[in-house]
Amino acid sequence: MGDRIDFRDGRWIVPDRPVIPFIEGDGTGPDIWRAARRVFEATVQKVSDGKRRVEWLEVLAGEKAFKTVGSWLPDATLDTIRQHRVAIKGPLTTPVGGGIRSLNVSLRQLLDLYACIRPVRYFEGVPSPMREPQKLDVVIFRENIEDVYSGVEYRAQSSEADAVIEFLTEHFKAKIRPGSAIGIKPMSKFGSQRLVAKAIQYAIQSGRKSVTLVHKGNIMKFTEGGFREWGYEVAKQRFGEQTVPEEDPGRGKGDGGRVVIKDRITDAMFAQLVLRPDDYSVIAAPNLNGDLLSDAAAAQVGGLGLAPGGNVGDGYAVFEATHGTAPKYANLNKINPSSVILSGAMMFEELGWSDVAAAIVRGLAGAIKARRVTYDLARLMPNATEVSTSTFADCIIEHV
Ligand code: NAP
Repeated sequence: MGDRIDFRDGRWIVPDRPVIPFIEGDGTGPDIWRAARRVFEATVQKVSDGKRRVEWLEVLAGEKAFKTVGSWLPDATLDTIRQHRVAIKGPLTTPVGGGIRSLNVSLRQLLDLYACIRPVRYFEGVPSPMREPQKLDVVIFRENIEDVYSGVEYRAQSSEADAVIEFLTEHFKAKIRPGSAIGIKPMSKFGSQRLVAKAIQYAIQSGRKSVTLVHKGNIMKFTEGGFREWGYEVAKQRFGEQTVPEEDPGRGKGDGGRVVIKDRITDAMFAQLVLRPDDYSVIAAPNLNGDLLSDAAAAQVGGLGLAPGGNVGDGYAVFEATHGTAPKYANLNKINPSSVILSGAMMFEELGWSDVAAAIVRGLAGAIKARRVTYDLARLMPNATEVSTSTFADCIIEHV
């Protein structure tokens, strides 16, 4: 029997035998989860000499939940994750048709998981479109609740859209073409600052050199421009001793180990990540910018198959594969389990088991370097040996 993870005074309290709920996922999820779980168990055992152990607790969601208990997302699943604070999930089918809650949206709202965190780094040997893919090593913190995720959007010519247009035209003399669709992009100081603060905290704790605020504030002065302004403000007010703005004369290079706070306009940032990737380390962005940047950055280092993700709030976190269920490969023991495995490494890092996280990453890097990889990588890597999902897990464990 394990113990519950707790969170007090801004810190995780992690017992030696934490109970961690998992959702194995649909389609290829079970194949991936089986492999990932073996890697996690072997690594925790090896690194801690058997002193630590995770007690995995299955919770149902997706097709398996629907078949078993008649609900795509049972309340019991949400309750269990809330009680245990930290969970990990494989990919889930998004059922077509209305009336079904999305697990991600439900969890985000229930647990206030306001930061979507996506580390992007290169693993030697992985095919990439770039000449020097190893120069990109960033961690993207994307705001996860506001902006386009706040869900305020009205269809063109709907009564809601027409009413908003009428109101804005009448009261604020706004010029909007009649019959337009309307989307509202709320971004608050509170929401922006807690995201930027999390990114800065991470940069300080992990010894990273800079945090870049990415925004389109030249055009959207009060939302995206607000994000920039509030970001610099929280850096100065809460982390004044540990950070320095890039523009600070004489000190803007981060002398004395301070984290440099800088900002870039979104379009320029896409170019910068391609042209000068090693100038960037931690990135903090509003929702939509962060969404676009995360996938573009992942593509630079070889694609989404290796990209992990975590949704993190204060005292709650859910880690997940960033790809879908790839149903055509279900139960073939063929698919690449790296995304969930690296999400697990992120989870252990967040919980303070950095030794486990580092060992998992080492194992994965070793397996790829030995060129014993799943079909997706093997078909693009010269002289690679294609192995099954489970054998790939064995290779990772060998290299831990
Ligand atoms: P997908 O499942 O990501 O698969 C698209 C293609 O990407 C696969 O056919 C495969 O390409 C490649 N791929 C994906 N995961 C891979 C892995 N682990 N290893 C190697 N290759 C991988 O996208 P989809 O077909 O659009 O979506 C299928 C279902 O997943 C839908 O129901 C969708 O709603 C859901 N979905 C869930 C999540 C989530 O839960 N977070 C995210 C996205 C989509 P090749 O055929 O070229 O080998």
